[in-house]
Amino acid sequence: MPAMQAVQFASHGDRDVIEYGEHPVPDVGRDEVRVDIAAGAVNHLDIWTRRGVPGLDLSMPHIPGSDGAGVVQRVGEGVSRFEPGDRVAVSAASSCGDCEFCRDGDPTLCVHFHLIGEHVRGVHAEQAVVPADNLVPVPDHVDWETAAAAPLVFQTAWRMLVTRADIDPGESVLVLGASGGVGHAAVQIADHAGAEVYATASSDEKLEYASGIGADHTINYEAEPFDDAVRELTGGRGVDVVVDHVGAESWQQSLRSLAKGGRLVTCGATTGPNPETDINRIFWNQLEVVGSTMGTPGEVDDVLELVWDGTLEPAIRSVLPMSDAARGHELLEEREGFGKVVLKPDNAPNE
Ligand SMILES: [Zn+2]
Repeated sequence: MPAMQAVQFASHGDRDVIEYGEHPVPDVGRDEVRVDIAAGAVNHLDIWTRRGVPGLDLSMPHIPGSDGAGVVQRVGEGVSRFEPGDRVAVSAASSCGDCEFCRDGDPTLCVHFHLIGEHVRGVHAEQAVVPADNLVPVPDHVDWETAAAAPLVFQTAWRMLVTRADIDPGESVLVLGASGGVGHAAVQIADHAGAEVYATASSDEKLEYASGIGADHTINYEAEPFDDAVRELTGGRGVDVVVDHVGAESWQQSLRSLAKGGRLVTCGATTGPNPETDINRIFWNQLEVVGSTMGTPGEVDDVLELVWDGTLEPAIRSVLPMSDAARGHELLEEREGFGKVVLKPDNAPNE
């Protein structure tokens, strides 16, 4: 059986379970495509999957990786959208197409919703086999780092702001953790949509970066509670929308940062899922708490078009060989630097 090099782990645990070694090259099913991976990108999801979460039952060894891009090597007999040689990026979300929510037009609500890299083997390897439905074409002028870094965080931030929070030009939007993956995508999308953008980060260097990509006001959350800062900057009013992927640590301050009638959109809970909630504040101020996850294929197309034409731009914090994948996880876990960590197969040709 032919083999490839892959980032993989045989059991859940700390970063030391990660190995870069041989793994069988997967077969190509009828509606699938095998891609020679040129680059992958690391997401917090990869860290959760590696540590293990309740209910996640993986076939070991598991290959992580929800973001990747490369060249089509082989297509199944049912695939007509792609042919060998095409440049593609992977969008991780899979749905069944048959359940009531899929049939009603929203595959992100699918009862069988799952993600490449989390529930099934991912793309941090020399090659990956994915359903053709999970691929988007990448224009020739887009480099592999950008193509690999954009899909997951930009579709997540796009759905949060454009679809779920339905932001209007002139509204005020607070983005927490503006130097992280989802954060830096949300700042750019909110700015592009004509919103007044407030951004938090943990250092002056990260705040300067946030200003450079479109934040109108920046707040160092290590120096002062960010809700106090928001109140001060908005003359006591608060903001219309808060983008929160932090979770328990930020939740109460996020609610206190909202203006009357404001919306808190959440796509994650990195610091924990069970904060205290002031219900009085929610009903009296008529707040909305809105969940969001990933994006539909149409949303992916919309946001990636803006990435491909340079309107939105993923920041690349580091490019590492896949044999250094553990270091890539560490950069995210320790919140070092800003933007996306990109992994390339060790034998990838330099472009
Ligand atoms: Zn479904």
